[in-house]
Formats: sequence, C-alpha cells, structure tokens
Amino acid sequence: MLDVVKRVKRSYSPGICIDSAHLYLYQGDWARHKPVCKALRALEDAGSSMALHFYNLADPTSGDVINTQELAELTGMCLHADVYDFEKIIGRPLIMIERNLFGWEPRCAACGITDRMIRIRAKQQGQASSTQLQKCMDCQSTFFCSPRHFALIKKTHGTVPINGYGNLSQCQLNQQIREDVRFFNLLSDAKTSISPDAPTALADSAPLTWAPERVMDEWSSLKGSTWEGEFASHLDVPAGKGPFLRSASDGLALPMTILYALEVLNGEWKPKDTLVIHVLGPSGPEIQNSMVFEEIVHRLPGLKRLELLLCGPEMSGVNQTDTKGGPEMELDTCPTYHEHIQQKGSSFKVPDLAVAFNSGASEVESDSWKETMKMLIEKKIPSVFTSFNELEAAKESAMLSELGAPLVPELGPCRNPWGSMLLKTEPGRLDGFYNSNGWFAGGFK
Ligand SMILES: [Zn+2]
Ligand SMILES: [Zn+2]
Ligand SMILES: [Zn+2]
Repeated sequence: MLDVVKRVKRSYSPGICIDSAHLYLYQGDWARHKPVCKALRALEDAGSSMALHFYNLADPTSGDVINTQELAELTGMCLHADVYDFEKIIGRPLIMIERNLFGWEPRCAACGITDRMIRIRAKQQGQASSTQLQKCMDCQSTFFCSPRHFALIKKTHGTVPINGYGNLSQCQLNQQIREDVRFFNLLSDAKTSISPDAPTALADSAPLTWAPERVMDEWSSLKGSTWEGEFASHLDVPAGKGPFLRSASDGLALPMTILYALEVLNGEWKPKDTLVIHVLGPSGPEIQNSMVFEEIVHRLPGLKRLELLLCGPEMSGVNQTDTKGGPEMELDTCPTYHEHIQQKGSSFKVPDLAVAFNSGASEVESDSWKETMKMLIEKKIPSVFTSFNELEAAKESAMLSELGAPLVPELGPCRNPWGSMLLKTEPGRLDGFYNSNGWFAGGFK
C-alpha cells in the first residue's frame, strides 16, 4: 500500500495569490482557483471591511483575560461579514468549501483578527503593513497577533485537555492533525495533496478504505474495547500505525458504529443468516466506502448476508457500479426515509437497525428529519443517530426526546467510542474539533 509514494507538487503561484491561507482551495485546478483568488484580492483592495468594523468595536481581551463568549460571537460576526462582502464581489452565493475559506482563515486565537484585517487596517491608517500573524511553534496551526496575545492563550492552548478528545490539548491535537495530513499526502497524488498549512482541507478529502482480512469465528463484545485494541494487531505498515489507523477509522467508523449500536440495543449477538441495515440520508463517504460495511459480516459469526438500504437525496445519480464490491445493497433515490416507508406500504419490513450518520438533523432539513424521526419512533424501528460534535449531538438528542423517543443513555448524547479518529478543526471557531460520527445523538428501539 505504501510502495507508491509520489512527490507532493505545489501548484499555486505565490506571486499571484494574495497570501497562503487560501492556497488549498481548488489546488491543482487553476481555472477554478483563479476567480476566487481574484475576488479575494478585490475584497482587500476595496479597503473597507465590515469584519474590521465589528472588530474595532469589540475588545474580547480587555485586561488580562479573554472573554471567550464575546470572542466567539465576534468571530462569528466577522465570518458572516466576510462572506457577505465576498458574495457581493463574486456575485453569487458561496458553496460550503468556499465559505470555509473564511471559517478556516487563520485568526489570532486571543482577539480573532486575520492577516487580511491587519493589512486593511494598516492601509486605512495610511501605513505599510508590517506585522502579520505568528504561529505557535509547536503545532504551527494556532495563530496570534502579538506576544501579549500569545501569552494570553499559551497555557490553555498547550495544556488544557479538549473535552472528549482523550486528554489531549488543542496544541497536541493540532499536531496530530498535521501528522494525518502528512500521511494523507504520502498516499495521495499531487492533485489531491494538501498543504500542511491548510490541514483543515482534510475535511474534503477521501479517507483511506481499509479493513482487516479476517473473519471472526466467535462474537466478541465491543463495549470497553478501543480502536487500537481491535485493529492495531492487524496493521502491517512499515511506519506510522497511528496515522494509518486514524485514517482507516474514518471509513471503519461506519460498520463499527452499527455493530456497537446493535450490541447496546440487543445485547450479545444471536447468530442469524441475514442482517438488514437501513442508512438514512447517506452522503459521499457512506456511498463511496460501501465495501467497508463488509466488516459487519466479518465480525458477526454465522451471518451470511448483509442487506443494506441507502436512502436519501444524494443517492440520485449513484448507480450500482459506484458501490460494487460491497455487500448486497439496495439503492433508493427516495429523498427521505419516511417517504420510503410510505411508498413501501405494507411490504415495508422493519430493519435490524436504521442509522443516520452525521445527520445534521438540527442544522439542515430539520422539518423533514422530524418526520423521519416520528416515523422511526412510531414504527418502533431500532435506530441510531450520530453527529460531528457535542453541540449537534445535544440538539439532535433534544429533537428525538421531544418527539418521545425512548432514548438509551449509552447511545447519546455522548461520545461514540467508534467515531472516526481523524479529527478536523471546527470552521468559524478558534477552538474545537469535530470528527465524522464522533458523537452519538440518540439511539432507541
Ligand atoms: Zn490564490
Ligand atoms: Zn490578537
Ligand atoms: Zn500549538
């Protein structure tokens, strides 16, 4: 697997691009990169910035403490202002990865200022811009605008564990993400390689598809087990078991989450021939990685057939060849699961588990998700919902709870022990991480 190592090529033009913060966007595709790049320059040449205006009105670092609440609000406002200004220039609404250009733009961790704001401010004051953001020397991924501001964040950044992420501080987790980027680049070609200065771009990259080649003769509980405990002994890679396993866990999180939820809801595995799993609202990773679902068959003794139904709006345009090589699969372009159930009518059979990976039910299409949730509860369909972060898990758990779902405490809201180990930096915030299926929002039957 590691025998083909291709050199990483840099495809941007330092003379043309305004700074390095946006270089990962459409990297290798200059035709798509150029208009965004030009608009960024126009945004700066305009010399006024709504974000800078908000920044000048606020002071989240008065005295020697940071008002984190105020800082978070200021950052959010600046982000919206930048997107608003930018959309006016480019003349169309931004798509998500373009919005994240601003969400992941380097900002001083103490006051939220960006290099762009520093340059515009200098220009407004008729000065040549001399300062720019500095990086934390240890992780190279957290920024500060002055030594005083670094002093304000240094201790928390370097030593305080981030809730839910294994006792590691923001600085340590940043370093882990950079290691994951290096590993990703090692495996990928020049076109998809990621600048280590934009580790956040990992969010848009395809994970490694890997599962151990073994079939288990005996059932073993996943409770209290860990990624390392389950998989480390099956890895035969010359270097970097850590990054390899973290990368592979992104795909394996799908079958492992299902297996764990089945165990929590039903207890010990009672062998049967066929298992039926319905995946609600699948997106790219679940569709492209469908062969990793085979791990379910490898892990449950006596299981002969896995029937997967993938049902959701993103399924239109997917055909059987895209998902070849995996277990038996039915694809349904029905946009929602409750409509699928209605269409099936009396021929609908309750699956062993319905799973909504990173549903985002509290963020987008909430009304439609509520209808699906109601249906799941009413028909007593064993179900589990996962989410990217703690906040979404709490909100989605509340939605399920309000609708009367008999939630099982072990399935949320709480950390999913089988969520992806591949972390990503929260866009639009100065702290915090998210990961695919990182949290259980709720499970019931
Ligand atoms: Zn550029
Ligand atoms: Zn600052
Ligand atoms: Zn650091």
